[in-house]
Amino acid sequence: MKFDILTIFPRLFDSVLSEGLIAKAIENRVLSVSIHDLRKFSSDSRGSVDDVPYGGGPGMVMNPEPFVKAVKHITDERGVPDAVVLLSPQGERFTHQAAVRLSHLDHVVLLCGRYEGIDERVSELVVTEEISIGDYVLTGGELPALVVLDSVGRQIKGVVGHSDSVKNDSFAKNLLDWPHYTRPADLDGSKVPEVLLSGNHAEIRLWRKRESVMRTMERRPDLLSSGDMDSEELEIFKKLCDTTEN
Ligand code: SAH
Repeated sequence: MKFDILTIFPRLFDSVLSEGLIAKAIENRVLSVSIHDLRKFSSDSRGSVDDVPYGGGPGMVMNPEPFVKAVKHITDERGVPDAVVLLSPQGERFTHQAAVRLSHLDHVVLLCGRYEGIDERVSELVVTEEISIGDYVLTGGELPALVVLDSVGRQIKGVVGHSDSVKNDSFAKNLLDWPHYTRPADLDGSKVPEVLLSGNHAEIRLWRKRESVMRTMERRPDLLSSGDMDSEELEIFKKLCDTTEN
């Protein structure tokens, strides 16, 4: 899968893309990520990319031309992208489902805004969807672009070593993940649940499912309404509902 990212701060991406599973995926050519310096597509020799807002008021607005030119350049070089995503607090809230959907595409362009945002015509002319990573405002679209890239990337086969760990992650089935433990079994009296040391795989599976359902009921009951549980989880859920009612 190919990502092209447009930004005025290309160096912001260096450290994140040089370590961990995403770096490995890039090295193994499962993922290709190109960072484009927006200033190279500026209309003037000083490389300016922003200007005062029409109508007055505080802050600066990013000019439309560099974004439009850069997307055209990417299209000419790499073909028509499947999605041109503007990172924006006004976009659709990013979720696991959106990450999975994007992971099925071949080529995604991410546009990072700064200042007051980007001239609205960029949305009309080249953007196919707007994504927000949450109801708060950041200083730029670079962190949101990395959030999208990372979560989409880990949905692609071969990026995370064990495909089962992605399947069992929080949100994959509208349930939160179960709690995880590792050595030591006894941490100054704080012990790992006995069942996990039992070697009884059927019991362990049921314990994990129970923890998963219980956590979701306690912390994120809103997820359960979208119902995506298997028969064991459903049975556990019904039992837990009965106990809380009585
Ligand atoms: N004036 C804008 C905010 C601009 S913040 C507004 O109130 O809607 C500057 C840039 O940061 C935006 O153009 C966007 O690219 C990015 N950004 C800020 N918060 C974001 C969020 N929650 N999700 C995605 N991108 C965000």
